[in-house]
Amino acid sequence: MLLDMDGTLLDLAFDNWFWHEAVPRCLARARGAAAEEVRAELLAQYARKQGSLDWYCLDYWSNHLGFDLRALKEASSHRIRYLPGAREFLRRASASGRRMVLVTNAHGDTLRVKHGVSGLAGFFEQCISSHEFGMPKESADFWPQLRERLGFDPASTLFVDDSPPVLDAAAAFGLRAVIAVSRPDSRQPQRAPGRHRAVVSVGELIG
Ligand SMILES: [Mg+2]
Repeated sequence: MLLDMDGTLLDLAFDNWFWHEAVPRCLARARGAAAEEVRAELLAQYARKQGSLDWYCLDYWSNHLGFDLRALKEASSHRIRYLPGAREFLRRASASGRRMVLVTNAHGDTLRVKHGVSGLAGFFEQCISSHEFGMPKESADFWPQLRERLGFDPASTLFVDDSPPVLDAAAAFGLRAVIAVSRPDSRQPQRAPGRHRAVVSVGELIG
């Protein structure tokens, strides 16, 4: 079983708050500029990088913005939460003896901060950041490399993620059981159905 982290197990409300509210506010304060102005400028910059490895990279944004985002993330880490039903799902899935690997686009530093708060890594045989491969999960070249590293059978491996382009890449590679999480952010409504089988929460997969 291959599981994504943010928006699949952990509430994307944290990441949306961090990037859309906390970062613009801190940057505006540092620059002595209006928060709304900085926010609009940042959202445009995020959009240009969406889907690339840089988009997920704390180093990239720290360098680009001249601002220590790692420190800001650590200072706000108490806001990190599991999605409803996710911790119970992990507890039962790991007790069942299934092989479980976390596969995330999050930077290794983000992974460490989130594990420090949630204890997430304790449920997994290993945690892999796509930064180790130098490409995001959206990339077709990511999947053959992951299979080589882990030695899984695509025909019998379950993969759960909340990102449609990532799910598309996994399905195109040949992963048979690809499942979308349709409510990655608990503060937002459920997403409209896409082309993959969907669950509102991984809790629905227990049984
Ligand atoms: Mg995700």
